[in-house]
Amino acid sequence: MATTTEYRLLDLHCDTVTRCLGEGWDLDHPNLHLSLSRRPQTIRLCQAAAIFMPDRFRGREAQTYFTRACQLYREECARKRESLASLQDAASIPGQLETTPAAFFLTVEGGSALGGDLAWVDKLWNLGVRMMTLTWNGANELAGGVGSGGGFTPFGRQAVARMEELGMAVDVSHLSDEGFWQLCDFATAPFCASHSNARALCGHRRNLTDEMIREIIRRKGVVGINYCRSFLTPEGREANIDAVVRHIHHFLDLGGQNAVALGSDFDGADLPDDLQGIQDLEHLIEALEKSGLSDEIIRNILFENAWNYLIGLKKTGEGIS
Ligand SMILES: [Zn+2]
Repeated sequence: MATTTEYRLLDLHCDTVTRCLGEGWDLDHPNLHLSLSRRPQTIRLCQAAAIFMPDRFRGREAQTYFTRACQLYREECARKRESLASLQDAASIPGQLETTPAAFFLTVEGGSALGGDLAWVDKLWNLGVRMMTLTWNGANELAGGVGSGGGFTPFGRQAVARMEELGMAVDVSHLSDEGFWQLCDFATAPFCASHSNARALCGHRRNLTDEMIREIIRRKGVVGINYCRSFLTPEGREANIDAVVRHIHHFLDLGGQNAVALGSDFDGADLPDDLQGIQDLEHLIEALEKSGLSDEIIRNILFENAWNYLIGLKKTGEGIS
């Protein structure tokens, strides 16, 4: 009897929900990178589903945009509940993937969703948000992004402190270099870069320097490898699955065997021809095997590293249930 190897995959970032909201599509739409209808039978997927906050919204307008997007996310998950679970507790991910082949948990890409109101950190948490990318490319109420430069505001420091108390993952993808190193001075919990690669291999500002990668590893954080062409190779030239594998090996060479994970950027980026969506993930796994990695390391990259990071975030604040 033929056996089929199954993999669990925990992907730290996609923009699929935002794409669906913008286009009026549902989660099976064939034009999506992450179309649930094209999920390979061998892969059970837990996906961090981001609500992307455009830089044109700030303050009350950003709160209103987030609230609307969050409502649509919940409605779509409810419609798909037979094949897709919506999770709020990382500890439940493995058990849930035994029951449904896919599960989402909610994240926010851009701290502008807070609208500058500290009470909104708790509000987002209560709505199920378990990770927040502090900035997009522009500066917001919290800090400067890679496009604007600039460090943290006092509000940004307070927001991070409350996220840490709640056990919400602090995500530095898109954050300015200055912001990254300031965060290292005041962070008290491990943080992550949900969708960033190695600047040593591709000098894009959205990628991390080796010094940053070592710092994340030292703090027991994680980094999700991004499939975006221009973060894989200079100007995205000849970006392919092998380039994804090269970035993964670079993280491993820096000691990141427990820190490197996946952060596809599905439905938010221009992708390599041979990695056009969820249907091609088996080819990525084959390429990792061919590159000489053991089954255990591959499973760590696909799932365990991200999962261990998420379940390790401890609630330390007052009045948190
Ligand atoms: Zn992004």
